[in-house]
Amino acid sequence: MPKERLYLFDTTLRDGAQTNGDDFTLADKLAIAGMLDELGVDYVEGGYPGANPADTELFGKDRKFDTTFTAFGMTRRPGRSTSNDPGIAALLDAKADAICFVAKTWDYHVKVALETTNEENLASIRDSVKAAKAKGREVLLDCEHFFDGYKANPKYALACAKAAYDEGARWVVLCDTNGGTLPDEVEKIVGEVVKTIPGDHVGIHAHNDTDQAVANSFAAVRAGARQIQGTLNGLGERCGNANLVSIIPTLKLKPEFARQFDIGVTDAALKKLAHVSHALDERLNRASNRHAPYVGESAFATKAGIHASAIMKDPATYEHVAPETIGNRRKVLVSEQAGKSNVLAELERIGIKADKDDPRIGRLLEIVKEREAIGYAYEAADASFELLARRTLGKVPDYFDVTQFDVNVEQRNNAKGDRVTVTMAVVKVKVGNDNMISAAEGNGPVNALDLALRKDLGKYQKYISGLKLTDYRVRILNAGTEAVTRVLIESEDEAGERWTTVGVSPNIIDASFQALMDSIIFKLVKSNAPA
Ligand SMILES: [Zn+2]
Repeated sequence: MPKERLYLFDTTLRDGAQTNGDDFTLADKLAIAGMLDELGVDYVEGGYPGANPADTELFGKDRKFDTTFTAFGMTRRPGRSTSNDPGIAALLDAKADAICFVAKTWDYHVKVALETTNEENLASIRDSVKAAKAKGREVLLDCEHFFDGYKANPKYALACAKAAYDEGARWVVLCDTNGGTLPDEVEKIVGEVVKTIPGDHVGIHAHNDTDQAVANSFAAVRAGARQIQGTLNGLGERCGNANLVSIIPTLKLKPEFARQFDIGVTDAALKKLAHVSHALDERLNRASNRHAPYVGESAFATKAGIHASAIMKDPATYEHVAPETIGNRRKVLVSEQAGKSNVLAELERIGIKADKDDPRIGRLLEIVKEREAIGYAYEAADASFELLARRTLGKVPDYFDVTQFDVNVEQRNNAKGDRVTVTMAVVKVKVGNDNMISAAEGNGPVNALDLALRKDLGKYQKYISGLKLTDYRVRILNAGTEAVTRVLIESEDEAGERWTTVGVSPNIIDASFQALMDSIIFKLVKSNAPA
């Protein structure tokens, strides 16, 4: 049986841009639109031309995308003609393939928010669709508060959707704007709608206020809708929108959907999904959710020793899909519960050959257990684990030696009489027979130490010039007088590869120093720097 086409509509750059604190620049928007285009998403909603300078500029030029690049805006205002409405003018001027209008479909909102009549709202929908069609654009109508509106007045909500469809809108999108509708209600209401408007013209736009936006999207598809709107990583105001990063692999990999539907995302593009998800977080300058389904660092991580040995025999025993299909990877955690099989699996993954009867494997396990007992967290710090393993198995060169460091934090009045805090670090390093000394100022002691340490490593400098710190996390363990500090540092190199290192000490500077050192040495090992 031929498969039906299901369409994906991304609104990361419009609805997702309403997340608190997430502002996209024009460069961000172009980069993200490019990633979505490459991924094979059918529609990319770029923003709201006329609403802010970045969006106006975004739609000021033709953008060369395969995706249907879409502008968002409101239907004409009540009591105005489309030719006399600056919002409509901005939309029609936008260089976009499609226009997505948003309209009220809940009679209560028409009366209270729009302060107009039901009939005028219907006329506004018809006129707006007509104006955009006349300009040769593909048209979509986002039916705001559709589900609440349908529950209050099904006839009117449906009349709004039907008005757009009859006027030639390609898609009528049913929006759960408050995000409070449950999957069974969505399935039932969409089932009613598709009796009037064909399902291949009906879309779903779900918000995540009950943590069921993804489930609501699938419920709509089961009832006949054929377009899903969502955002990357579920970005969006309040609790976010339906997460396309969870929806896409489910559609591709779960037989219930894969047997029935084709989507624009190819198998090859699916392999980039984890990267796309992480790249978005990178743009937003925030740490990725390690427990995110499919793409999170922990999505295919296994902890207990007995599971690890089964996974090595056959990964399908503990995994619902193969991690490589979405560009993720299997991870066997080394932790206090670790058995020998965990350690062996992890060594195999990082490419260290080891014999299971080698007594050093038992020794490594002992060291991991001892260190985790005092606060080290190797399952979060893969690079520190790799170094520990290589050292225990005798495979890390002594590249350099930090013979001394000094960090000074001073608070004083500057020449203008303002109170300032100045931090300075001095590091003495021995590389071979060369003794070097570097000093740096930073915005805090760890930053100053990091800058001084990486300023001059002599012959190794070229290997670490692309290294940067992307995340720094501090946790105080065993609160009270015996408190120790655990520092986790995430680093990235010029190729975009990331790793995490750990340091533990009663002193935060010392803990940070350990993690910084591990990060630099890990980079040298990874680069095959000569001893
Ligand atoms: Zn929305």
